[in-house]
Amino acid sequence: MPSFQTSPGTRDILPPQAGRWRALNAVFAGVVESAGFECVIPPMFEDLGVFLRLGDATDVVTKEMYDFEDKGGRRVALRPEHTAGICRSFAQHRPTTPWKVWYSGSNFRYEKAQAGRYRQFDQVGIEVLGSTDALLDVEVISLGWRFFQELGMSSVLLMVNSLGDLADRERYIDALRAYFVTHSESLSAESRATLERNPLRVLDSKRPQDKSVIAGAPTINDFLSDEAREHFSLVCRGLDQLSIPYAVNTGLVRGLDYYQRTVFEFVSTALDSAQTAVGGGGRYDGLVEDLGGPATPGVGFAMGVDRTLLACDAEGVFLAGDAPLDAFIIDVTDGFAALRIADRLRAAGFRVDRAFDGRSMKAQMKVADRSGAQVAIIIGSDEAAAHSCTLRDLGTSEQRLVLEADLVENLSALVGSRTPRRTTS
Ligand code: AMP
Repeated sequence: MPSFQTSPGTRDILPPQAGRWRALNAVFAGVVESAGFECVIPPMFEDLGVFLRLGDATDVVTKEMYDFEDKGGRRVALRPEHTAGICRSFAQHRPTTPWKVWYSGSNFRYEKAQAGRYRQFDQVGIEVLGSTDALLDVEVISLGWRFFQELGMSSVLLMVNSLGDLADRERYIDALRAYFVTHSESLSAESRATLERNPLRVLDSKRPQDKSVIAGAPTINDFLSDEAREHFSLVCRGLDQLSIPYAVNTGLVRGLDYYQRTVFEFVSTALDSAQTAVGGGGRYDGLVEDLGGPATPGVGFAMGVDRTLLACDAEGVFLAGDAPLDAFIIDVTDGFAALRIADRLRAAGFRVDRAFDGRSMKAQMKVADRSGAQVAIIIGSDEAAAHSCTLRDLGTSEQRLVLEADLVENLSALVGSRTPRRTTS
């Protein structure tokens, strides 16, 4: 047993899984950049105050924050999500609106680690700041939907709801509190504790004991203002026009306090644990203002990368990894031919690896086979004397002798042509 292991709730993402993560990021970037979103990279830690704006009744703030005092006596926290940092960034830099940005990176929450729930986890997401248009909500949701489609997933269900405006929500929370208080005898002890902090979150309880009380609870629908109702109806009409299937779930409240009007969640039916949400988001007004910027509405989502890939595994889709090697060089002379050829082929745009440590032909051949390369380039003493090498197609086992000077042409004929890398000389 080595002296150190990964901390609870963290994992090494090893090859080939790490390549799959990068491929997922590339799919995501392709989808959102097609809609004019640009990448932002906010810092991984911020002043704790930035995240306290997520709401003091949320678990993320009360229990799960990785906060500490740095050596300069500042109270900072590792980000538990990206939205607050992006709103802080907007308030600080005041870009022109609508500001359409996407991100990808790790978040940190001190949670009880279990399958699909980690203390360090990755998200990809988008935020748009500066527009209240309901059809923007539709654009945001549709890009999330498209992302899952492009990964090849068919197990994803979309749930939508409206939380109304601030005043609607306050009236609703009051009504919910009153209702749950009169039924508190029947609620689980955990839900009774949640009720004290945030009655909305009781709706999230999956405990069997709470089920019937929750089923009889008032729904937000009866508390929506005319404007909020009209906004939600436009969102639903937009989704209908794009033929995106969805279910209205009046129990959907989302974990953080800042949401208003539209909220949505993507769940995967391929995940059978309690952690079936692969992503979610919604509209939030007031967060930028809270962080010292001008009043600016926002809408966005975050998709959980770890869980999305677990769902892909369960469906047997998106098995992408790193691109395989084009060629593996086997040099049984002094290794200088391999050094020279590898450098030349890499400059010509091929993916090429080679063996080291002067190993035998048989040992190097084994490594070449294992590497997944399409072609082996073999240099023995005869080849070296003739400034040539043997190209062996590792799929068909066909081989031919070619001059080192004609290598790029011959390799292109086998694996396809490549774009040469830039050189400055
Ligand atoms: P949230 O904004 O908290 O709903 O997070 C959005 C998505 O991130 C969720 O739907 C999950 O897929 C993912 N997620 C959130 N927390 C975790 C965690 N602790 N571990 C893994 N994935 C998470």
